[in-house]
Amino acid sequence: MSYPGVELFQTSAKGRGLKATRKFETGQAVLKQEPYAYAVMSSHIDVVCHYCLCAPGQPGAPVEDLHRCTGCKFAQYCTKECQKKAWPEHKQECAAIKRITPGKPVDQTRLVGRILWRRKREENLNGEKKDGKENDEKKVELVKIEELEDHLSKRNAEEKEAIDEKVYSFGDYFTYDEMPDSDEEMAHLFAIIDCNAIGLNDHRGVQTIGVGIYPGISMLNHDCSPNCVAMNNGPRLEVRALRVIQPGEELCISYIDSLETTEKRREKLKLQYYFDCECDTCTKGEELENLKHALVSEDIKEESVKYINQFSKDMLKRIHKTKQNQNWERMCNQTLGTLAQQDCVIADTNVLKIAMLNHAVEVQSFLRRQEPALEYAERVAAAYEKLLPPVHPTLGMYLMRLGVIQWQIQKTEAAVATLGRAASIISKTHGDDHGMFKELLGLIHQCKMEAHMSKGAQREFRMAKKKAGLKLPA
Ligand SMILES: [Zn+2]
Ligand SMILES: [Zn+2]
Ligand SMILES: [Zn+2]
Repeated sequence: MSYPGVELFQTSAKGRGLKATRKFETGQAVLKQEPYAYAVMSSHIDVVCHYCLCAPGQPGAPVEDLHRCTGCKFAQYCTKECQKKAWPEHKQECAAIKRITPGKPVDQTRLVGRILWRRKREENLNGEKKDGKENDEKKVELVKIEELEDHLSKRNAEEKEAIDEKVYSFGDYFTYDEMPDSDEEMAHLFAIIDCNAIGLNDHRGVQTIGVGIYPGISMLNHDCSPNCVAMNNGPRLEVRALRVIQPGEELCISYIDSLETTEKRREKLKLQYYFDCECDTCTKGEELENLKHALVSEDIKEESVKYINQFSKDMLKRIHKTKQNQNWERMCNQTLGTLAQQDCVIADTNVLKIAMLNHAVEVQSFLRRQEPALEYAERVAAAYEKLLPPVHPTLGMYLMRLGVIQWQIQKTEAAVATLGRAASIISKTHGDDHGMFKELLGLIHQCKMEAHMSKGAQREFRMAKKKAGLKLPA
């Protein structure tokens, strides 16, 4: 990864980091990087193309079905072209998977395998390069993969044992002959994957479908109110500016959900990334933090707050179970019952309230009660606008969802406006050539067409579309 405007530097308290050497406008791409290696998650091996990560049969996918690699019968591709492009990365993996069939390699094993095979290919290429041949796979990197942080020294005995276990079983897959000699080197690699691998989402940002390693982008430190966001477009990761960035500013992303309370964020960062966050939002972000605990009025008694907090937490657990059992009517009753009590005590920006409102939108949509779903979705969107900066992926994606609900109940003009706002945010957070942005443009176009039709014509149009098998957005 070499990119104009970014350089590696030594921070005062957070080790290495990346900083801007030029000005970036909001929404501008700061870095784009192809993965050093990536793998489809086990949960999605039969659903997405193992090369481009598209999901056949879904809107925006080039084809309806995947076809299997005849060698390992594990890898699947959307087109012959993807299969051909994947072959250099898959060739040795294909043999390794066959070797352990009917066993299936876990995600981390496949990822580490790909890293080691790529390293070997690069070593060979370097050898060839001396003979005057070109080498296009190896590009200049800001850092080498081995130089990434592994936090091994901060891990407890149990965590270390889990890593040793992975190293131990890796030999069956990779073959012991080819494995690096030292177990320390292997443990280092597995530990690097733990703290540096980045989850890759489907184009709607709903599900994590893959995992990749991006040595340059891994150098970005965390901030709870970051100036950048990293989004994947297929396997490629793109970092964009969430606000104007001046030369000399450190570039940061958020490793976790920014909507959580300070206590929760710091807890997660410590557990997963082994550091105590001392960012401005954690140390001085009182105003934002107060919103996340906000009450409906100042007169609410402390006992009422205590009661509703405990009650909400208990109900969230119960609703989670009801949801797992797919008992939607019951989930609806539990959610609305809790909301009725919450409404007397805590405000919509309170994290416990947002969680409940989100459940309400989900369950009402599922039960096809779009009118109440819309009412709750509008409240969530209003809360997000108070809690998030004006350009933020969560806000953009939520407005998209809100616009779709408005459209479904034929509030087409409102839908056009909401989807338009979503598009202006998503073009900045995801970029104009991202699948989500393209899908949004398609939605806006359809919506505008319907907005100009009479109600009767709209109904006919929808029925014709349904017959033709076109999918309405979820
Ligand atoms: Zn593909
Ligand atoms: Zn294969
Ligand atoms: Zn923080």
